[in-house]
Amino acid sequence: MRKVKIGILGGTGSVGQRFVQLLENHEFFEVVSIAASERSAGKLYGDIMTSRWKISGDIPAYARKIKVVLPKPSETPDVDLVFSGLDSDIAGEVETDYANSGVMVISNSKNHRYDNDVPILSAEINSEHLDVLSFQKTKGKIVTNSNCTIMGVTITLKPLLEKFGIESVFLVSMQAISGAGYPGVPTMDILGNVVPHIGGEEEKVQMEPQKCLGKVKDGQIIPADFKISAHCNRVPVFDGHTVCVSVKLKTKTTENDIRKVWAEFQGEPQKLKLPSAPEKVIDYRTEIDRPQPRLDLMNGKGMTTTVGRLRPDPILDFKYVVLSHNTIRGAAGAAILNAELLYKKGLIPVS
Ligand code: NAP
Repeated sequence: MRKVKIGILGGTGSVGQRFVQLLENHEFFEVVSIAASERSAGKLYGDIMTSRWKISGDIPAYARKIKVVLPKPSETPDVDLVFSGLDSDIAGEVETDYANSGVMVISNSKNHRYDNDVPILSAEINSEHLDVLSFQKTKGKIVTNSNCTIMGVTITLKPLLEKFGIESVFLVSMQAISGAGYPGVPTMDILGNVVPHIGGEEEKVQMEPQKCLGKVKDGQIIPADFKISAHCNRVPVFDGHTVCVSVKLKTKTTENDIRKVWAEFQGEPQKLKLPSAPEKVIDYRTEIDRPQPRLDLMNGKGMTTTVGRLRPDPILDFKYVVLSHNTIRGAAGAAILNAELLYKKGLIPVS
């Protein structure tokens, strides 16, 4: 079978660059199109990205030759699937246009996440949510990623919810500057500083894990029944969101049992041996001062959620620290893993 033809919408941004990098020589997918705003359209990707490429490693040769277009179905007639890393100001409408035109959309933006018939897919934890796709009226379907801050947190909560039940969660995030896109937070605001507010972030963090961890009933995703209280902070770290989590469980358990369910946790991507699936979904570090972004960010090529410091919480039951890579596990890498799952399930129409 031929490879799935891919368009990257927002291919010049922080998330878009990761897509360009991670999709080089992909087993199932071939990038044929890159779209961005008017300031980029009409120019060769290699020419405009020389000063805008912000991640380690060179711009892949295949992408240098692609002429950037506007994100419109008429501009990208060859694609079967688009990965969207578009600014949320325009992502909603553009993604709907693509779905209407029969193209599968895998999005990183918030716009469609809360639609009833759109799953917030996290391939290891809720592949059954794909059942709701048949309720979408458009010819192409829309699947979203979760917010990058809760990606790793939700992965750690999944086995806890299944084994012990969850009453409530309290969390404090320390979020990297690349999470704000490029150019993002001004240097004078973030160097040597912590900014205790990220617009709209706490609302997303307090709501999305419950949808991700919900159950499908009669074609609807019924959110999991627990509350989250979140404090979200921007810190002067380049990549990698660190989150301190406290959790109250429904049944009593021990630290050993929690570490055991985390160590054993596997999802469909691991069973199907999908190309982007990390061997370890959750990696528990026993050192007292881990995880740290500088040391643990690229664990499992940036796809593993690294956890540490599990200990009793005097107010709730347990507390721990989670680290995940915001533009890989929290965005492009997770979106590609979702697409690999859809491909293996035969859910990407390839004409
Ligand atoms: P970014 O660096 O600001 O990139 C935004 C992209 O959207 C660029 O390619 C830009 O093109 C394009 N764009 C902006 N306005 C446009 C317009 N009017 N028409 C067409 N294209 C337009 O942002 P980002 O951090 O990559 O985030 C992209 C999306 O992913 C956002 O919705 C964000 O919330 C979400 N997300 C980000 C992260 C992260 O860690 N950064 C993680 C998860 C989810 P030009 O370069 O030509 O302007």
